[in-house]
Amino acid sequence: MPTSACGINCDICKLNLMGICSSCGSGKSPEARKKLEAQNRIFGNTCAILSCACMNNLSHCLRDCNMFPCDNFRLGPYPFSPGFLSMQERRRKQTPPALTHNSTPVAIPAEYWESLEKRDMQMLCNFTLANPHPSGGLVFRFLREDILVDTSERCLKRLKEGIWEKTEDPLLELITLLYFNNIKSFHPIGKDIVGTSDLKEAHFFRGPHTLKLSPLSERYGNDLNGFKDAAEYLGGKAVDMASSGYMLLPFPRVPLYYLLWKGDDEFKPRISVLFERSVEEYFEADAIWGLVTRVSFALLKGPEC
Ligand code: SF4
Ligand code: SF4
Repeated sequence: MPTSACGINCDICKLNLMGICSSCGSGKSPEARKKLEAQNRIFGNTCAILSCACMNNLSHCLRDCNMFPCDNFRLGPYPFSPGFLSMQERRRKQTPPALTHNSTPVAIPAEYWESLEKRDMQMLCNFTLANPHPSGGLVFRFLREDILVDTSERCLKRLKEGIWEKTEDPLLELITLLYFNNIKSFHPIGKDIVGTSDLKEAHFFRGPHTLKLSPLSERYGNDLNGFKDAAEYLGGKAVDMASSGYMLLPFPRVPLYYLLWKGDDEFKPRISVLFERSVEEYFEADAIWGLVTRVSFALLKGPEC
């Protein structure tokens, strides 16, 4: 395993080529255990980062630990500068890239807001389990947080210390407007669960528009506990499917089922997503792609420490 727990790639280091230093390996690797033993024998102590990753059974701090960048990095002598760690901390709080399935910037047509303003908010709340807001808009639960759809200011807002603040999250804004504009009725959930290949626009999800699930498989494929923590943090409910499965609710009546299949000697681990068939009543294929991309981003981000 070339990359160490901390993220340094020991296999491209001359010290490794010269046989002076061995590869640390990931926090789950036999190389890591050997390195810790060697450090203990030679120096009388061990690298705090490597020990911690091994103890927590995490492969790579930067990818797998929700505490990164922790004090082992901040206070230790190596391997990253304070500037790099601050950049990591700042950018991990960013909202997801606002890109469509074609990698073009997400644009919000003004008429989406205009048509939403004309809808009967009380009826919309009944259909969607959202709550009316005194501003004339509505509040709905997106995964684990309340979102205000502010129709008077034409923006989404998040609660920050008791105050609704405008939030820039174009992908969420787009799917929210499509959902609240398109919904005309609602359906019981859990009755007709389907995959992309069962949808009317199944052809859309092939080739370049395949759902972007490989980052999730990379992150959680060998870490069922990490998957469970992230899904439960987002309010997910366990379902009896695959090696581990969770129902997540980006809108109160629109579940997405994330299923993790453990790998074996023959197959790599993988993650798939299922839907209620009714999802097609609210979203066209490109919007379903956007919905899954936005929810997957939240799952990948995981719990905030
Ligand atoms: S900081 Fe620790 S884990 Fe990273 S290369 Fe050095 S000894 Fe290995
Ligand atoms: S707490 Fe720090 S050192 Fe330990 S696994 Fe997480 S990021 Fe790595």
